[in-house]
Amino acid sequence: MSTKKVEIVVQPKTPHFVGDGFRVHNFIPSGFRLDIQRMDPFLMLDYNSKYHFGPTATPRGVGVHPHRGFETVTIAYKGRVQHGDSAGGGGIIGEGDVQWMTAASGVLHKEFHETEWAKEGGIFQMVQLWVNLPAKDKMSKPKYQAIKNSEMKIVDFGENGFVEVIAGDFNGEKGPAATFTPVNLMNAKLKKGGKETFTFPENFNTGALVIEGNMLVNEQENVPTDHFVLFENEGEDFTIEATEDSIILILSGEPLHETIVPHGPFVMNSKAEIMQAFDDFNTGKFGYLED
Ligand code: MN
Repeated sequence: MSTKKVEIVVQPKTPHFVGDGFRVHNFIPSGFRLDIQRMDPFLMLDYNSKYHFGPTATPRGVGVHPHRGFETVTIAYKGRVQHGDSAGGGGIIGEGDVQWMTAASGVLHKEFHETEWAKEGGIFQMVQLWVNLPAKDKMSKPKYQAIKNSEMKIVDFGENGFVEVIAGDFNGEKGPAATFTPVNLMNAKLKKGGKETFTFPENFNTGALVIEGNMLVNEQENVPTDHFVLFENEGEDFTIEATEDSIILILSGEPLHETIVPHGPFVMNSKAEIMQAFDDFNTGKFGYLED
């Protein structure tokens, strides 16, 4: 086993609004070096760092829009999100929960702050990650996995904290999310001074986002709150030491090595497939969802 070195530490870019409910820093694909080829199979990572939304009777968010060809993974750290899609999926993503939506052949969905939460307002913090699907699965049936925090696999380190495994595995413990290709996704919730080793295959594209606190990677690289660290595709192991009580989102996925043709809410393998997606959307093949 050899050390997986840090390739780069990426600072958060100026945030922008998605709809009126998500104030996000985009890390993938527009963060320095974090393009879709380098991060394959991860297509997008939008991070709503802690932000206060005032109370409102009209929940903020994003209205009805389509997706095809990939999965959207929403991780709620603070606040609650209400989801609905044209395949009949939906529900509330509570604090600590994850929703893993496989858009695949196509869904219409909408994403808003949950009504009761919106009435009170408060600090909101969320990640949305897009995971590409291999060509053979892009036109499979849409599905929806609502993963409650209590269903995540916990790897306990006692006074050092613990890791919540969402997908893939860590130390032999498997997370509840079903994935189409190997994807590891987990939250390391480490106490100050907690230091743990993470091991992923060399060729997997691997990174980590500091949601809270501060970490020292491989005993030398300091990564503060809201910063992303990208690892090299050499070596398997890295260590994380929390220098404050920290929450760190760790992602590692096997690259698909297929042609990626992204166009807004559609990510396919050719221009013709993108044209087809627009055609299908315009002719109602994505179903119907009320505003
Ligand atoms: Mn969406």
